[in-house]
Amino acid sequence: MDFDVLVIGAGPGGYHAAIRAAQLGLKVACAEMGAVGGVCLNIGCIPTKALLHAGETIANTRHAADFGLSYGPATLDIAKMNGWKDGIVKKLTGGVAGLFKANKVTHLVGQASFIDANTVKIGDKTYTASSFIIATGSEPATLKGLDVDQVAIVDSTGALNVPDPVPARMLCVGGGVIGFEFAHIYNNLGSKVKVIEFLPNIIPGADADAVKEFGKIMKKQGIEIVTRMKANSAQKQADGVHVELENVETGEKTTEVFDRVLVAVGRRPRTAGLNLEAAGLKATERGFIEVNTRMQTGVPHIYAVGDVAGNPMLAHKAMKEGLVAAEVIAGKPSEQDAVAIPGVVYTSPELAWVGLTEQEAIDKGYKVKTGLFPMSASGRAMTLQSTEGFVKMVVEEGTDLLLGVHIVAAHASDLLGEAGLALEMAATASDVALTIHAHPTLGEAVLEAAESVHKQAIHIVNR
Ligand SMILES: Cc1cc2nc3c(=O)[nH]c(=O)nc-3n(C[C@H](O)[C@H](O)[C@H](O)COP(=O)(O)OP(=O)(O)OC[C@H]3O[C@@H](n4cnc5c(N)ncnc54)[C@H](O)[C@@H]3O)c2cc1C
Repeated sequence: MDFDVLVIGAGPGGYHAAIRAAQLGLKVACAEMGAVGGVCLNIGCIPTKALLHAGETIANTRHAADFGLSYGPATLDIAKMNGWKDGIVKKLTGGVAGLFKANKVTHLVGQASFIDANTVKIGDKTYTASSFIIATGSEPATLKGLDVDQVAIVDSTGALNVPDPVPARMLCVGGGVIGFEFAHIYNNLGSKVKVIEFLPNIIPGADADAVKEFGKIMKKQGIEIVTRMKANSAQKQADGVHVELENVETGEKTTEVFDRVLVAVGRRPRTAGLNLEAAGLKATERGFIEVNTRMQTGVPHIYAVGDVAGNPMLAHKAMKEGLVAAEVIAGKPSEQDAVAIPGVVYTSPELAWVGLTEQEAIDKGYKVKTGLFPMSASGRAMTLQSTEGFVKMVVEEGTDLLLGVHIVAAHASDLLGEAGLALEMAATASDVALTIHAHPTLGEAVLEAAESVHKQAIHIVNR
């Protein structure tokens, strides 16, 4: 065999798997047909967060006058912003390539395709390995009638290239995490943004109260949100993209004109070109590769991790699964048994959650108590000019066991680390409340939300 482990795909799942396998003494190769770092580093998490930061900084300039800081209206050099974003991506992907070298992971360039269960073909070469980890990720789902040209009608990859001038009228088709992050970016950069969502609620999967609060804040920032609405078709004309919209309840159709349309209606797993059948594998109807908690497919020495192995399609889930697969191959008793996988919308404020929503907890048969602490009562939030949102805690009545934490607040994604650890440690609301949190910090809102479960929060009137 050429290698102990051959990883296919160098996204978060693949590069974590490759590096951990190498750390554990295995002879590792990682095949990548595109750029090292995968979707997350190149066209996902990192560039979106860079643009979100740029947009947020512009928005913040408008509030600085409140504390006496004034300067002329902010002007934006779009080419420079795009270049700055691309520079971060380059630095991070270069970092992964450097880590491969340092860990002696052989980087194979090209598309890997199975010849049999122990052999893949890359270009005109073949490589054998004792184990494989498939980490081929996902790609944007398409929508019939809306043909992506990456200029006027874009998917998330096209949307990362902010045009100059910024589109005056922007439509985001899909009110999920990606749709809202781009809506927020373009809204802050000066576009008039409309988000349409087919379902009755935006950000499916998040807690209903948190989503309501989040939607209210996004609307206040100027984003138009319409639910139960779909886009049937989009035609490019001289004055813009004409989009036929349909109210899915009444069937009423209207045509509106936009300068840019983003299609963000989900992602689908990517197995094309892998020739799975030759390895004795078959994707499910929805295109995923089925795995057990040790990330093994139906062919035990072939593993699958990340977006291609199932929902939620998140980088940190892919990373964890990559580590598990590598550790199992190295003979460790490793397993993917996370209590909860956090979710974040990186707008400002952020919407972030971990664990069960109130409804999910009720559906699972828990008798539920909730606590809520508004950021408007947080001293730290006031000093940061970020008093919108709240921390909501879902707790089992009687046992006081923490079931879920839902946050709409500045830096909610960072506050989530504590909540995630609490869930993994099977903490009670009292455990969180008894932990001394530094003052003044946004994290105190997590403590006070836990106190509020017991009607003993200090900085609000408990009802
Ligand atoms: C706009 C956007 C923003 C996002 N923001 C976030 C975020 O903030 N936080 C978060 O957690 N997640 C985010 N995600 C999701 C995140 O990017 C994915 O969950 C993550 O990249 C999945 O990692 P992966 O390793 O499974 O696959 P990918 O990152 O998709 O990587 C798969 C790699 O495999 C390669 N490949 C595929 N087939 C082959 C083959 N046959 N041979 C060789 N190579 C192959 C591909 O070229 C690719 O590089 C975002 C996604 C998008 C699109």
